[in-house]
Amino acid sequence: MDIRELQRLDAAHHLHPFNDNAALAKRGTRLLTRGEGCHVWDADGNRLLDAFAGLWCVNVGYGRRELGEVAAKQMQDLAYYNSFFQCTTEPTVRLAAKLAELMPHDLNHAFFTNSGSEANDTILRMVRHFWAVQDKPRKNIFIGRHNGYHGSTVAGASLGGMKGMHKQGGLPIPDIHHIDPPFWFGDGGDLPEEEYGRICAQRLEDKILELGADRVAAFIGEPVMGAIGVWIPPRNYWQEIEKICRRHDVLLVADEVICGFGRTGEWFGAQTFDFRPDIMTLAKGITSGYIPLGAVMFNDRVAEVLATRGGELAHGYTYSGHPVCTAVALENIRILQEEGIVERARDHVAPYLAQRWRELGEHPLVGEARIVGMVGALELVPDKPGRRGFAEKGVVGTRCRDIALANGLILRATNDAMLLSPPLVITREEVDELFGKAWKSLDMTAREFG
Ligand code: PLP
Repeated sequence: MDIRELQRLDAAHHLHPFNDNAALAKRGTRLLTRGEGCHVWDADGNRLLDAFAGLWCVNVGYGRRELGEVAAKQMQDLAYYNSFFQCTTEPTVRLAAKLAELMPHDLNHAFFTNSGSEANDTILRMVRHFWAVQDKPRKNIFIGRHNGYHGSTVAGASLGGMKGMHKQGGLPIPDIHHIDPPFWFGDGGDLPEEEYGRICAQRLEDKILELGADRVAAFIGEPVMGAIGVWIPPRNYWQEIEKICRRHDVLLVADEVICGFGRTGEWFGAQTFDFRPDIMTLAKGITSGYIPLGAVMFNDRVAEVLATRGGELAHGYTYSGHPVCTAVALENIRILQEEGIVERARDHVAPYLAQRWRELGEHPLVGEARIVGMVGALELVPDKPGRRGFAEKGVVGTRCRDIALANGLILRATNDAMLLSPPLVITREEVDELFGKAWKSLDMTAREFG
């Protein structure tokens, strides 16, 4: 492989998502060539521990040949057929039924998309339609959260609360509002957990009362907020949110694109935090990232209204329920179930990972080490007891990420939080490797900024 030539072609012809493309062109993109278990190799031959599972998605780890074999077989048998025009294919039907079986309660119905963003786009239209056909067309407002991430499509980015994304392209679109999410570290962390949880949930009720319950269609949130920096809510937060949604007949949407398929310990974040969404969006771990697929799961109440009063659903994608993607998802779920990967991660690895992660929290550069299940973050700070961030956000975090990479460890940085989301198959030995490389990287970063 001619790395320099590929870098030149990349800079000339490829616009990267979420990148400063001018800076990238100068620096030269990193080419990844191979993966096995929790490690990937780049074109320079470096072996890297991927503690971010690609982009929160490679839950079963790299190199599972079965997934490729299933895809190849499906391509040979029937490479494509759509789900429009009263048709479908066997893997798509079987996946819908399998997901219904896995879901925590009556989320028995699936609509397939190609990504998490498209799943969230879908719910905007589906939910508004749900209320409109019940003679409530004005009940069309979505409430999301500042700093939430629900994808990059127009609706996904509007539902999300990332200011930088809103700035590009005139978002959010109308009738989407945002409230502040819980962020224990940023808010000072001095209230008892239950009280803080109630105060944060109350922000939703205040917003509903301000807008009028007859205007509010749904509330959407990530059980654990990923992209902004793994903000883990107080234990009671989601239960309080659910009570508020029920009181005002507002649909509750859990965006489980990251949390689904074992990331927070249980199969779904709604189980970890013990609440009952009406709708759940899925992607990433549904295929462990081996092939693109997303889904919207919705409960019997929503399904009943759509079926009896909804008429034709004027929404869908050429690749909704693509048979190759659904076949791979089924095989991925088979692997997760038969090998007990979620339960093993939860019971045998997550407690050890949490222990070592908290040891990293002792480092002078770390203000908080937070973790739930197999997802966590280290909040880097200039002044450990002060719970204050750096004056210029993101410089130290980005540098720490680059140092970690040079030390053979992939972590993501959001501002000055180092994010952790390893494949669920990570072993205790690999957790030790992670700890050693992370500690060394923190030390080197601290020396540069000390
Ligand atoms: N929702 C959440 C919580 C996500 O983290 C992401 C992606 O990171 C998305 C939605 C968007 O998914 P996709 O990138 O597959 O469109």
